[in-house]
Amino acid sequence: MYRRPNLSFSSENGFDGLVSMNDLQHSIPPTIETTARWVDRLADIIFSPQIETAIQADLVPTPQAEEIEQNLLEVRQAFLALANGDLNFELNAKGILAGALKTLQANLRHLTWQTQQVAKGDFSQRVDFMGEFSTAFNLMVEQLAEMTVELQVQQDELIRRNDSLICEVEERERAEQAEREQRQLAETMVAAAKALSATLDLDEVMDIMLEKIADIVPYDSAVIMQVEGTTAFTRRAKNYQRYGKEIEDRVKNARFNLLETPNLASLLTTLQPFVIADVNQYPGWNKKITGNPVQSWLGTPVIARGKVIALFSLDKLEPGFYTDKHGQKLKMFASHAALALENARLYQEVQRLAITDALTGLYNRRYFFERAVDEMDRSRRYHHPLAVIMMDLDHFKKVNDQYGHPAGDLVLSTISQIVKKQLRQSDIAARFGGEEFIFLLPETTLEQAEQIAHRLRSIIAEFPIPYEGKKIKITASFGVSSAQGSNPFIDVGRGIEQIIALSDEALYQAKQAGRNTVRGRLIAS
Ligand code: GH3
Ligand code: MG
Ligand code: MG
Repeated sequence: MYRRPNLSFSSENGFDGLVSMNDLQHSIPPTIETTARWVDRLADIIFSPQIETAIQADLVPTPQAEEIEQNLLEVRQAFLALANGDLNFELNAKGILAGALKTLQANLRHLTWQTQQVAKGDFSQRVDFMGEFSTAFNLMVEQLAEMTVELQVQQDELIRRNDSLICEVEERERAEQAEREQRQLAETMVAAAKALSATLDLDEVMDIMLEKIADIVPYDSAVIMQVEGTTAFTRRAKNYQRYGKEIEDRVKNARFNLLETPNLASLLTTLQPFVIADVNQYPGWNKKITGNPVQSWLGTPVIARGKVIALFSLDKLEPGFYTDKHGQKLKMFASHAALALENARLYQEVQRLAITDALTGLYNRRYFFERAVDEMDRSRRYHHPLAVIMMDLDHFKKVNDQYGHPAGDLVLSTISQIVKKQLRQSDIAARFGGEEFIFLLPETTLEQAEQIAHRLRSIIAEFPIPYEGKKIKITASFGVSSAQGSNPFIDVGRGIEQIIALSDEALYQAKQAGRNTVRGRLIAS
């Protein structure tokens, strides 16, 4: 509630100009009452929350009174606006109060602008026109600037830590992935090694390898090639039947000249895997040999004791399938596989040596008997004929005497090669001892065996063996026998003894008949 202050006024207080309408009209000095009414009006403007905008009609102002009243009204209006935070008021009034108010308005407006600049990050703003407030403002801006710098440093540090955390997480994920792959690879290797150690059969070892490779590196078809010198040939093939019989046969019988096949040559020279993303874009791809519809290829060498003994060749129907990562996995598998392959190969070699005569390369006597039992058994069961040819070189002792023992050895091995070439794959040619040979011919009648013996006799007789510029002439005598008809023997063992004995008898007859000839004996049922 507004309470009028106890004002005292006089002409010195500046109220001389306050007159009533009545005073003005009559130009008479204002009465106490009129002056009091003017003081009330001015006091209302200063103190009262609500005021009449127009002065009372009978209170006529003098120009000075009106000016004071207008000035006060405007200043009041401006103060109220300022109090409400409005800095856009217009103030036309003159005088010290209005002037001070305008200065305050201008300062506050400038301060507002400066604050906005600070908000935009301009910490160079300083206030020097508002005393204590200036000091506080300037301090605030300085601290803001410091805090901002500090915040930036912290933010940079956070970003750096975040980046390094992201890197660490990625690194860990990569390591975990690599570890998973390594573990899987190791497990597959262990499984493969276990499977491979279960057999020493070379073909079986290769089949297991092809099966196990699929657990590590996918393929649609695959080959294991054996390498001999500059040739690689298919030892084992998998899944090629899917491209048709013709292609399967072609792949199974494929022989590659490594010098003319750049992708295979690369495996040999670099000892590293080789990837072909699209064989159709690869000029060295030999379509004539394979002819299959594959598009991606991966190969790796299998290295044993520093030597490439085999190649793994993997195909995929779609292009761009294989990566270097597949290559590294296959290479790792190959390094384990090499040992198994070499063991099986050595075992096979030992097996081969165990049944082979070292000088002639023919089978030895022991193996001949092993096979003879099988063949005799089969011949009896299926009532098929079985023939035995015994061959003895004529006057061989003379060869040794005349040309020396090495010459005799050469004659023995040369004659063996001739015989091997003449006989069928299914025939068993063995060195029976010294210069005596024995041949087992399944499914062969006495007549057919005698023909074969005649052919061998004439080829040998007509082939002088070159030795140190000389030609060694040699002939051979043949004793042939054949078991024909049903169940001719009491038992297989005796049957073999009997058929060999008969051949031996026939051979003796051939020798008696003057050598370089054939004699035959038939065992009838
Ligand atoms: P025949 O026509 O009666 O068979 O007369 P032959 O001289 O061939 O028969 P003989 O049994 O008298 O002599 C066989 C010779 O074969 C005796 C032996 O020194 C020789 N011989 C046996 N094995 C080898 C061998 O591995 N190398 C060489 N160089 N000679 C051998
Ligand atoms: Mg002889
Ligand atoms: Mg002899």
